[in-house]
Amino acid sequence: MKGVVFHLESDLPPEAKFLLEDFRLAVNNAIRAAIGLRVTSRNALCKLAYRDFRQDFPRMYAQHLLSAFEVAASVLKNHRRRLRNRVDARIPYIRRLMMKAENQAYKLDRKSGIIALPIRARCHVELKLLISQYHRKYLDDTGLALGSLTVLPDRVIVAFRKDVPLAYVTESVLSIDTNEGSLDGVLAHRNEAEVVRTNFAEVAIIQQRHHDRRKRLQKKKAHDRHTSRRLCKREGRREHHRVEYRMHQVADSVISLAQKHKSVIVLEDFKGMKYKKNKDLNRRLSMWPRRKLHQIIEYKAAWRGIPVVKVDPRYSSRKCPICGRIQDSRMGAVFECECGWHLDRHINASINLLQTAISKGLEVAGGLRFDPGAFQH
Ligand SMILES: [Zn+2]
Repeated sequence: MKGVVFHLESDLPPEAKFLLEDFRLAVNNAIRAAIGLRVTSRNALCKLAYRDFRQDFPRMYAQHLLSAFEVAASVLKNHRRRLRNRVDARIPYIRRLMMKAENQAYKLDRKSGIIALPIRARCHVELKLLISQYHRKYLDDTGLALGSLTVLPDRVIVAFRKDVPLAYVTESVLSIDTNEGSLDGVLAHRNEAEVVRTNFAEVAIIQQRHHDRRKRLQKKKAHDRHTSRRLCKREGRREHHRVEYRMHQVADSVISLAQKHKSVIVLEDFKGMKYKKNKDLNRRLSMWPRRKLHQIIEYKAAWRGIPVVKVDPRYSSRKCPICGRIQDSRMGAVFECECGWHLDRHINASINLLQTAISKGLEVAGGLRFDPGAFQH
């Protein structure tokens, strides 16, 4: 699923603006109704509240009402997560004007770029999209189906879905150990393997720099909380853009390598990792770029039909891939074992991930006789 942003040729017609207002109200009411009724899913909410909502919003197109329940359910899901993490427990309220329509609730003529958006039964407005070459690529691609439509006051977002990703028969494995400032791994072919690396050390540097700058701003503008908050927010946005940009570059390099060699990508599964509150806060923060990077890689891989396998990273940094011995503690830059095996610590970890994946049944066309010994000089 990929969201593509379109601007409109002219301002939103008044009927559409009213629809956005109604939709926002319906979402906010649905959020409160769900909390009152103690339900969490869209379906449960629909069952219990639909009749009332039909009366409160007699003019709204039924599909839009269902979509409002859907949006409310997803807002509440985030809310529950925040409650679990004990941050900002206020009941959410959607402020910005928006509406979301599922793909059966609107029509988009892909040639002319005209959206027919129903307002109520037998009444719709037309929105004319501004189309650039970039947009044409998506509109003309017959392999892409239309997903949901999100309407905002100044733009719309159309989701495109690839019906069947062109999954290839894998010929190699790209096993990656994700570290604080780098991806280190091996690309293993049938009979040979090579070390691959990419570095994103600057992400941590950007984060640190912005963190310091924010702290300074807060101190300097301590007398003026409003300005301080505004500046910090701007600072946060800049940081976000820079970090995101770099991460996409790194993910792209992984994806293009995998595509070129028809690889299956092996990554660590961070899911099981749990941290104690506060004590491990720093560790959690430093994990953020890695999780984010995985998210981007997985998303891009899915879009291109590149298979991704995630494996339990336990002991991957402490195990010897030759004799299986597990070292007591992490070591320096080089992993060394009593059996004589020694290798760059990160590359060693990626070999362990690869072996875990193979032992869990990962198969590669043509077979993979991976011999770690190839890395020993
Ligand atoms: Zn060993």
